[in-house]
Amino acid sequence: MFPDATVSEWNDWRWQSRNRIRTLEQIERAFALSDDERTAAWRHNGSLPLGITPYYASLMSFDDPSDALRRTHVPVGNEFIRSPGEADDPLGEDHDAAVPGLVHRYPDRVLFLSTGFCSTYCRYCTRSRMVGDPGGEYDFSRSQWETAFEYIQAHTEIRDVLISGGDPLTLSDDRLDYLLSRLRAIPHVEFIRIGTKVPVVMPMRITKSLVRILRKYHPLWMSIHFTHPDELTPEVMESCTRLADAGIPLGSQTVLLKGINDDVEIMKRLMHGLLRIRVKPYYLYQCDPITGSSHFRTPVEKGIEIIEGLRGHTTGYAVPTYVIDAPGGGGKIPLLPDYIAGRDGDDLLLRNFEGNTYRYRDPDSSYGARIPAQDR
Ligand SMILES: *Cc1c(COP(=O)(O)O)cnc(C)c1O
Repeated sequence: MFPDATVSEWNDWRWQSRNRIRTLEQIERAFALSDDERTAAWRHNGSLPLGITPYYASLMSFDDPSDALRRTHVPVGNEFIRSPGEADDPLGEDHDAAVPGLVHRYPDRVLFLSTGFCSTYCRYCTRSRMVGDPGGEYDFSRSQWETAFEYIQAHTEIRDVLISGGDPLTLSDDRLDYLLSRLRAIPHVEFIRIGTKVPVVMPMRITKSLVRILRKYHPLWMSIHFTHPDELTPEVMESCTRLADAGIPLGSQTVLLKGINDDVEIMKRLMHGLLRIRVKPYYLYQCDPITGSSHFRTPVEKGIEIIEGLRGHTTGYAVPTYVIDAPGGGGKIPLLPDYIAGRDGDDLLLRNFEGNTYRYRDPDSSYGARIPAQDR
């Protein structure tokens, strides 16, 4: 696709960002498109544009539209269908915005939307309403940042700031340095984390100079969006190694996606690969009901089945927490397989990972007693 690119250009994140696949013409050159994909790319307008870094596109199949990573980034016609329960802002983030770009939903922490830009646009994006639409309804200006700093400064209960977007690691080194220094200067902010997919889709962004900036602001944690074991390349291993060597604890966030990673074996391979590059699986998300995402969504049972297939069968560190981010702004609600088999007098009956029942003496309790469904 890029016959004239030199190796040093390919390994330069600014080159990757500049040469993102964005137009119908570029995507036609990168992939043998199906009619459905071509029509969808042609029809698309507004926020959540087409965007794929050349590096990330190189991990996708040229001619197979069912390829896992390709399906997460190349639009299809189903994206234009609104299904029952779907909305542009299902999590009610706009409603919970304390000031523009700052979501204050939980008592002690805030979500800081630092930019509307991403190096790649996942078709199931939670913030599809606002990303990649410069000049659109959502403005990520410098003055908006200042208003957010003032809010955090004035709210001493905020001890945790999650910087997300868009993707914060697409900001320049200088802007990131500024953002982190302003947050670090607020005495009650104990914990800062960055939510990003950059180490996976543009691993060359994790330069030595970036890492030198990040490590000034410890304790700094990072949540990285991983989807599939095909992403675990030598380049990604290198990016995560640099971050981990700088003392940044790494966690993963994965969205459960139909036909892409909704399989115990695929998920196990991903989680094992993450542990090998020092990333702790953090959350597995039920796919948010954003408009046009029904082709990505599995039944909730599938998520439970995957957790059940991991817990006990492999390293405990490899098991993420499966959550539904509740529509309407309820926050993340964890879901677990039911390991309680019932109660027999003073004994709580527990089911283990192999399906065998065990007794645990738990007197003076009714925990586990079956409650008829109609009385719940
Ligand atoms: C996910 C999220 C957080 C962080 O939640 P944790 O469970 O602490 O990772 C904070 N604010 C908002 C609005 C979120 O969606």
